[in-house]
Amino acid sequence: MTQGLTLLGATGSIGASTLDVVARHPDRYHLFALTAHQAADALLALCLRYAPRYAVLSGVVEDQDLRRRFAQSAGGTELLFGAPALEQVASDRECEVLMAAIVGAAGLAPTLAAARAGKRLLLANKEALVMAGPLFMRTVREHGATLLPIDSEHNAVFQCLPQLGAGTSTRAVRRILLTASGGPFRSAPIERLSQVTPQEACAHPNWVMGRKISVDSATMMNKGLEVIEARWLFDVAPERIEVLIHAQSIIHSLVEFVDGSMIAQLSNPDMRVPIAHALGFPERIESGATPLDLAAIGQLSFERPDAQRFPCLGLAYAALRDGGTAPAVLNAANEVAVAAFLEGKLRYTAIPQVIEQALERTPATQVDGLATVLEADRGARRAAAQSVALLMGKAP
Ligand code: NAD
Ligand code: MG
Repeated sequence: MTQGLTLLGATGSIGASTLDVVARHPDRYHLFALTAHQAADALLALCLRYAPRYAVLSGVVEDQDLRRRFAQSAGGTELLFGAPALEQVASDRECEVLMAAIVGAAGLAPTLAAARAGKRLLLANKEALVMAGPLFMRTVREHGATLLPIDSEHNAVFQCLPQLGAGTSTRAVRRILLTASGGPFRSAPIERLSQVTPQEACAHPNWVMGRKISVDSATMMNKGLEVIEARWLFDVAPERIEVLIHAQSIIHSLVEFVDGSMIAQLSNPDMRVPIAHALGFPERIESGATPLDLAAIGQLSFERPDAQRFPCLGLAYAALRDGGTAPAVLNAANEVAVAAFLEGKLRYTAIPQVIEQALERTPATQVDGLATVLEADRGARRAAAQSVALLMGKAP
């Protein structure tokens, strides 16, 4: 019997890598549902190929003509419209495994719905955990869901902690070291950063990813979000989570134990490795990734991140220390700032300014449910949009 998989964000970068791995294992998985926001043609092409039971276009209103085109595919795929349909296909009885690969805050509600339905949950959408970490982990525990990290660093840490697993106590751990490539501007002259273009920021040296996470990697907000993600996934205090720049992206993260041992996970930088790990877990299955040739690589290097070059990292630690809704504010302001930068409205160096101002103007409150988190998200988006409007076109 094969297991039914719902893939949220099927037309994205993680979506493509997931489909590649799933297609190698027809004996294990069939696709129950595929979703995209607005890319109807790309989603239809996937449905023609993979014949899922359902497809969802979360950012499109009812369209009978589109519905007919999907229904005529070989699998007779039923097309659903609007964001609530994401929750429906994530929590349906026939969805046994959920890959959460939507980018940004929009992934929170359907991912939480899958947790509430006790699914086996493969989490790429780190923003969900950043926004609502304690609430998310509590939901996973209370409803018996299984959470497996897809983010390469967290998947690496998970692999270094096989006896513990995500969400359990880690008293034997002294430190978690999250590696970071340093992105495209690791050694660019700092005075040039105010002039960098979206195209330069998206040209990651080691990974091919969606545009938002590519900019996050350049600013290292991605690592900041990952520190918060690790704090909740592995229940480790923030001061025991460190960031280490490792330009080759071969070691995906390390765990140091109280006895001084360090365990690391290595592979070529290819997201099919963590995806195959989580899809197969606890077994190991083929991912399609090229095996690592360490002798050809020769050397691995490490350095500490420069706080002046990467101010977003400090902002993320501060939001984590402030707690409550602060990480949701950080995340929302970052999404607004990155979108404005990608649209050419905001300088690269103004991204941390927008986030800092949003954090200052939106005091953190306690989280007592999803509604508080979503309210903080909306407030932070308003504050960030105002900052963007003021900073637009301003000299650095
Ligand atoms: P992407 O931009 O390539 O794809 C995003 C997907 O989400 C698309 O299918 C899109 O249709 C869908 N989407 C976008 N906005 C939406 C909305 N408002 N509502 C519903 N669906 C929406 O992104 P990606 O690079 O694949 O990243 C996906 C997630 O995985 C992100 O949270 C990212 O941080 C995380 N992640 C990605 C990588 C990577 O290598 N790409 C690595 C680690 C973690
Ligand atoms: Mg990562």
